[in-house]
Amino acid sequence: MQQHIDSYDFTGKKAIVRVDFNVPLNEQFEITDDTRIRRAMPTLKKVLEKGGSVIIMSHLGRPKKVDPKFSLKHIVGRVSECLGVPVQFADDCMKAGEAAAALKPGEALLLENLRYYAEEEGKPRGLAEDASEEEKKAAKAAVKASQKEFVKTLASYADCYINDAFGTAHRAHASTALIAAYFPNDKMFGYLMEGEIKAIDNVLKHAERPLTAIIGGSKVSSKLAVLKNLVGKVDNLIIGGGMGYTFIKAQGGKIGLSLHEDELIPDALEILKEAKEKGVNVSLSVETVAGQKFENDTPQRIFPTHDIADDWEGMDAAPASLENWKKIILASKTILWNGPVGVFELPNFAKGTLQIAEDLAEATRNGAYTLVGGGDSVAAVTQMGYADKVSYVSTGGGAMLEAIEGKVLPGIAAIQE
Ligand code: AMP
Repeated sequence: MQQHIDSYDFTGKKAIVRVDFNVPLNEQFEITDDTRIRRAMPTLKKVLEKGGSVIIMSHLGRPKKVDPKFSLKHIVGRVSECLGVPVQFADDCMKAGEAAAALKPGEALLLENLRYYAEEEGKPRGLAEDASEEEKKAAKAAVKASQKEFVKTLASYADCYINDAFGTAHRAHASTALIAAYFPNDKMFGYLMEGEIKAIDNVLKHAERPLTAIIGGSKVSSKLAVLKNLVGKVDNLIIGGGMGYTFIKAQGGKIGLSLHEDELIPDALEILKEAKEKGVNVSLSVETVAGQKFENDTPQRIFPTHDIADDWEGMDAAPASLENWKKIILASKTILWNGPVGVFELPNFAKGTLQIAEDLAEATRNGAYTLVGGGDSVAAVTQMGYADKVSYVSTGGGAMLEAIEGKVLPGIAAIQE
């Protein structure tokens, strides 16, 4: 049975907490952005305040074996500063039994990178490129078998399990999902995870209507599952960014050199048809800012989106599109935004995305619930200074995308089931 961190009695207990400390490091192994460390603090502090101790586990980067470059020892100092207690370090996550057993209430132990072991992800490593299917199968079976011991060892360190790593919630790894089975009555979400789940539910399960999704970004192919899931749920679907041109072309528009995927035209038409059948209002771009080259200082011209000249490329949303979208956004009670509506990395083509961020901020001020989640729209709102002007900005790119695709995330299911 799932517990709640606020009501669970941590007195004298050891909590093993999966966090996402996968922070960026520079060449001197200094942390360049400690957001992920800071976001996990409320959960860790709560356990310590309530008389427990914490065994913190995380991955860092994608090591394929023990590799000092990806050691979590680089971050021990910062974690200690944030937590306000000196954090001990176990330099092998499989040999931390003694250190864990010696923890007293209020103390913290950080385990070395879980991904030093193939068992964390449960995927075989070091297979020869020309390995036969049989060899691959045997290697997979071997790592799955040793994964059981790996999970059991981690679980043996603690009395309860907390998952606060939303960024890896879409992975069925040892520390994110499998370990929960060892704590059938002592497993719970941390605050960060809880916030993410609430945000997803606010949009997908009990949204106040009208519900609007703004889906942008580069390719229809990477958002197809998102669009297919949302078309049955939302009242308005705004489709912008590079992926919008496939829809315009599907309707017979001339899109010049704009990004598009011909092979996805049937899917685009299917989505439009389904939207019509379900009474969903789809709003495509009507006006585009185009450039002649994919660079910031290229000359700009505005075209109707269905009539872009042959040697021009659509790179941002233009005022007529933005006005349409603003009206929809401001009339909505719940808004989900995933993907920029232009090439926002080039400042001269960032205006459309900035305008959407402003509209979302205004809608939020007026009482709407606004969630920015998955990938580059998160980078855009953060970079543009709008992160605290919307209701929630998700911390998990891939995990949020899978959640809005309607998938059950293994890290969430393992706690709830
Ligand atoms: P995604 O990761 O699918 O959300 O896509 C984000 C990327 O889409 C960003 O790097 C944007 O630069 C890009 N993008 C947005 N609009 C356009 C466009 N009109 N043409 C090309 N790329 C775009």
